Amino acid sequence: MSNIRFNSTTSSPKKVSGFSTLWKNTKRITALAILGSVGFVGYKIYADKEPANQIKQVPVFETGQRKKTLVILGSGWGSISLLKNLDTALYNVVVVSPRNYFLFTPLLPSCPTGTVELRSIIEPVRSVTRRLPGEVIYLEAEATKIDPVNNKLTIKQSTTVHSGHSGKDTSSSKSTLNSVEEITTSLNYDYLVVGVGAQPSTFGIPGVAENSLFLKEVSDSIKIRKKLMDVVEAANILPKGDADRKRLLSIVVCGGGPTGVEVAGELQDYIDQDLKKWIPEVASEVKVTLVEALPNVLNMFNKKLVDYTKQVFQDTNIDLKTNTMVKQVTDKNVIAQVKSPKDGSTEIVEIPYGLLIWATGNAPRPITRDLTSKIEEQKNARRGLLVNDKLLVDGTDNIFALGDCTFTKFAPTAQVAFQEGIFLGSHFKKLHEIESLDFQVKNAKDLDSVQIERLSKKSAKLKEKLPIFKYNHQGSLAYIGSERAVADLVWGDWSNVTTGGTITYLFWRSAYIYMCLSVRNQFLVCLDWMKVSLFGRDISRE
Ligand code: FAD
Ligand code: NAD
Repeated sequence: MSNIRFNSTTSSPKKVSGFSTLWKNTKRITALAILGSVGFVGYKIYADKEPANQIKQVPVFETGQRKKTLVILGSGWGSISLLKNLDTALYNVVVVSPRNYFLFTPLLPSCPTGTVELRSIIEPVRSVTRRLPGEVIYLEAEATKIDPVNNKLTIKQSTTVHSGHSGKDTSSSKSTLNSVEEITTSLNYDYLVVGVGAQPSTFGIPGVAENSLFLKEVSDSIKIRKKLMDVVEAANILPKGDADRKRLLSIVVCGGGPTGVEVAGELQDYIDQDLKKWIPEVASEVKVTLVEALPNVLNMFNKKLVDYTKQVFQDTNIDLKTNTMVKQVTDKNVIAQVKSPKDGSTEIVEIPYGLLIWATGNAPRPITRDLTSKIEEQKNARRGLLVNDKLLVDGTDNIFALGDCTFTKFAPTAQVAFQEGIFLGSHFKKLHEIESLDFQVKNAKDLDSVQIERLSKKSAKLKEKLPIFKYNHQGSLAYIGSERAVADLVWGDWSNVTTGGTITYLFWRSAYIYMCLSVRNQFLVCLDWMKVSLFGRDISRE
């Protein structure tokens, strides 16, 4: 017994020491991991807060080589990605965009209902440009004309002038009441990058432009929010059973692409989770209808996910009308043609609405059409600028284009625009390298013929081997409402994952947090989600 006791007392401290070492190490590793993460996040926050010391713009480099002017149009996915990947010390970079911020569009459908606040998904252009190695000039203006022959650009700045209460000259202040003051000027460029995106398409369908709301910009989200609360409060005044009350509470979303599906899902969440709690007398009558011309929604997704989305819509009472093509919109009704999937016969139906959201894809902006009309090689470009495999606009030698303003074999997505921006960033670096070599060759006073030949060969080789743009599709993700999402993911060449549900929804959230432009955006979006889960969404008009 004593032996046993003895053994047990001698072996026990050994066990404890093994365990305690493990425990100590675990604690150390955890502490290090926490410290490391805090340090990393702290550094990111610091780096995000402080502008960089930038190299100033100059007309010529120290070598005597002229520094070229690179004008970038737009501050969206393509242009911002280009800026972040460009060595801005190599060019005099000028950014022209009417929007002085970047908008994280994937979370825009969450904004009208207040799941995410608009300020959480925008990032000032200057917080990007001020952190780059070389000075970048930002001009808040819209490009209205491009002259590809003279390398000239016309830009216009519009400012709304409000009537002042200065009391100096009341008659003149009255005359300037909300008038728009426009300043037009011109800019020369050596290289131009067009990243102006696209505008919502209406296909010229009568009544769409006048009666619908779109979801493309921050202002669209605000308009949808106001209109939504308008129709809810207006219907509340009318008695139950009134036809106008029913119409006002009918929300129609036209277009079953990802924008339409996501916004329909978000609206239904808002009705079920918030309006029903706070305005139950009206909320139970609010009806969301999604109208799609084709037999299915989310056509770029796997068929399984399309069926899953249909099922989720059915469960959450979103009325899905497929094979229904809108032909006309009046101030109170959507007029659509319904095609029977069985015999192909058609009939015209009227869908009354209080709020109509139009999400049927993209159309070229006027500036894109202006440019295509001036270039012979672009005469067949109906849906966007035609570019070669290096994103050079066909028919030009110094205009590049990226993102939604182009028409390529790739879908008009943020993913494509972002990767094109990365590509152009490195392309401009190579162009500069070639130009520097050519400059040395042309101005070679102290070089012998062997050195000149070596430089010429290097330049020729670089020109010949300029890489082409290769798109790496990583998959598609979409939120479909009721805390469910669908994902068609691609990992390398070997794996495709098709998934839908609540776990996918958590993945969707983490993916979008990861993709946000800044730590500030990531933090704010997380706070918004937390706020909604704690307190619900706000039901006020603003
Ligand atoms: P944009 O990002 O639209 O940027 C265009 C820029 O050009 C803007 O800054 C604009 O102000 C500026 N501009 C406009 N006119 C002029 C002018 N005349 N002169 C100078 N500047 C001008 N894609 C995804 O991959 N995943 C998603 O989850 C996703 N969700 C989306 C959700 C919504 C609601 C929407 C509308 C789109 C979504 N997309 C998504 C698509 C994605 O937003 C676009 O493909 C992407 O924005 C294209 O980038 P871009 O740089 O070409 O254009
Ligand atoms: P879309 O082009 O993807 O879909 C538009 C839909 O509207 C189509 O299904 C079309 O059949 C339908 N339509 C067109 N005319 C109609 C009519 N008269 N009546 C009824 N239906 C009609 O447009 P979108 O959803 O705005 O997306 C635009 C681009 O942005 C796409 O490339 C999309 O992939 C991308 N996007 C991606 C995401 C995401 O990945 N989560 C989200 C939003 C947008």
